[in-house]
Amino acid sequence: MNTQQGALDVISIQKRFQEFLTEFRVGEEFVYKKRINEMVANHERSVVVEFEHLIDFDYELAKTIQEFPDYAMPALKKALLEALKMIDPEYAAEIYEYAVRNQQLRGVETFEEAASLIPLNVRFKLPQSSLIRLRDLGAQHVDRLVLVEGVALRVAVSKPFLVIPVYRCMRCGFVQTGIVGLTEVFAPTKCPRVSEEGQRCNGPMALDSSSSYSINHQRMLLQERQEELVGGVLPRGVQALLTDDLVDKVKPGSRVRVSAIYRAYKPVKAQGERALDTFLEVNYLESAEKEFESVELTEKDLEEIRRMAQDPWLKEKLIDSLAPGIYGLRDIKEAILLALFGAPAVVLPDNTRVRGDSHILIIGDPGTGKSQLLQTIAKLVPRGIYTSGKGSSGVGLTAAVVRDAKGEFMLEAGAMVLADGGVCLIDEIDKMDDNDRSAIHEALEQQTVTITKAGIHATLNARCGVIAAGNPTFGKYLRDRSVADNINLPPTILSRFDLIFIVEDKPDDTRDRELADFVLRVRGQGKVDVPFSAETIRKYIAHARRSVNPVLSPDAAEKLNGFYLEMRKKSDTPDSPVVITTRQLEGLVRLTKAHARMRLSGVAEAIDAEAAIRLYNVFLESIGVQTSSGKKVDLSTVTVGKTSEELDTMAKIDKILVEMLALAGANGVLEADFRIRCKEEGFSEKDIEKYLKLKKAGGVLFEPKPGRIAKVKS
Ligand SMILES: [Zn+2]
Repeated sequence: MNTQQGALDVISIQKRFQEFLTEFRVGEEFVYKKRINEMVANHERSVVVEFEHLIDFDYELAKTIQEFPDYAMPALKKALLEALKMIDPEYAAEIYEYAVRNQQLRGVETFEEAASLIPLNVRFKLPQSSLIRLRDLGAQHVDRLVLVEGVALRVAVSKPFLVIPVYRCMRCGFVQTGIVGLTEVFAPTKCPRVSEEGQRCNGPMALDSSSSYSINHQRMLLQERQEELVGGVLPRGVQALLTDDLVDKVKPGSRVRVSAIYRAYKPVKAQGERALDTFLEVNYLESAEKEFESVELTEKDLEEIRRMAQDPWLKEKLIDSLAPGIYGLRDIKEAILLALFGAPAVVLPDNTRVRGDSHILIIGDPGTGKSQLLQTIAKLVPRGIYTSGKGSSGVGLTAAVVRDAKGEFMLEAGAMVLADGGVCLIDEIDKMDDNDRSAIHEALEQQTVTITKAGIHATLNARCGVIAAGNPTFGKYLRDRSVADNINLPPTILSRFDLIFIVEDKPDDTRDRELADFVLRVRGQGKVDVPFSAETIRKYIAHARRSVNPVLSPDAAEKLNGFYLEMRKKSDTPDSPVVITTRQLEGLVRLTKAHARMRLSGVAEAIDAEAAIRLYNVFLESIGVQTSSGKKVDLSTVTVGKTSEELDTMAKIDKILVEMLALAGANGVLEADFRIRCKEEGFSEKDIEKYLKLKKAGGVLFEPKPGRIAKVKS
């Protein structure tokens, strides 16, 4: 660690970096003069340097910076200030005076020594080739500049000020700032100055309290991507520290690439033995959303994908290949397949966004292989995130404000936020906690998660399809009860699913024999032969999601419309309950487009609509609705679990509240006023009570203030 051959002295670092800033060109363009000009124009204090440029220009300098960033940084800041003087003396003077005027330099004898206090940042974008996996960070990386990628799982509230102490070498006078740790500040104990002969000064450092100054500061927890890990491995997380203009640049759940100095420090306060605290002191940060999405496709892959799309048996073969270890369930697998492909979101002229992702719910008796199914398909789609409503995997479904080990409030992204741009597989959705229960409506429909708690206010994106599974309330699915009775989820959540399937573990001779046969075959060979490998399907889906955005053809629209009207007609009385609503129609459009995307067709045709309608009928039959008999179809009893008459009463009471809320402020209406008004309109105490109970349990109503009620935006 202390072999410092090749390290330049500070004077050379400054001189050579200044040359780089003012002389480096790509073609005719002076890249860094331009960037410094942009910095001035935007009134910023940071310049981003492509490390590859630096390596080209001055390999020795680049090597010194990467290996001894703490030692080099003050000289780099000085170089930037000097370059700035040449380009914009006025702005340079402003920076200089800012430093002096705030008395940041008090107690520091010369400005030369105080270089580390210059309020400018030199940020280094390290080359992709130097990327290190978070789990591989080790002793050899300590105090060096490294490049890592990960998900910002938790982000803390930014702190406007953090006082940074300044230390000075008792031997040579070298000045260095203390390093802001996670909650503590770590002091440099030995002087890092390196002589021309490559000797470290190692003089004792003493606190220069009068020179201390303030910067913005924010912590985040960077974690490995879940989808990158192979079965059962816990993702590794590393704390990271954002300072100055990097603060508030990251939202929880976003994927970032970070150049940082890896720190392993013994906290100053700690006595005796204690594990070293490690964290990343972030120097440069950029979004890595695109890279995370991309599955590398070669020309050969694309050829195979095109060939697959031409295969008349494509769908059958995909279904055969989907979770081949799980027997049967072909219709459910087809629905899942469509959810994996998804459809593009539609933005209406009034800027409302209609989601393109289909949500699918499977309610199944225990032991029907639901969990295994979800786990298997999570691997088939880019950004496929598997989680359990029980929260055993750590994060919740939506987002939460958590207090971490250091006692600080942090906003933590849940699985649906982490799956933004992909598909979220939720097992045991019926076991989710109250926080998720109230936030999941918005997450499923608007595909956003809004959090206002503990001084944190944020809206996170959760643009993912959801494939969820749950257990029946009574341990076994009861055919004589409604779907809503059978699963511990409020109707308001159930209605967000485009398709719901029931998987029962009921004795069936033929099926049992086939299943036994299947299990023996799988056990015997260890695998089932499938038309496409998981890798092939992953590539196919990635390509389709990325480059095919189907629109509805007139034929397809006519088919869907015809089905919709037919379904509505099946309730024949004039003021019949609504059997199918535009919500279901939107769901059918999504499935139709997903089916077209599966064929890599930019136009959704009649055959796509037919496939969607077929699945929809399977869904209706699965939940016990007879569609072929011409019998009245009342979908409301299915999803809402109430008779139409009851529903009518609830809807009327709801209308009253909506009217009252329209006239009320952000604090909602007084519950007492609402009750009086309902009674005036002729509703019984019992009905009002039932309404309030139902809506509160369903997460539709909340209390903005004690005694007041308001509706959750939907
Ligand atoms: Zn020294």
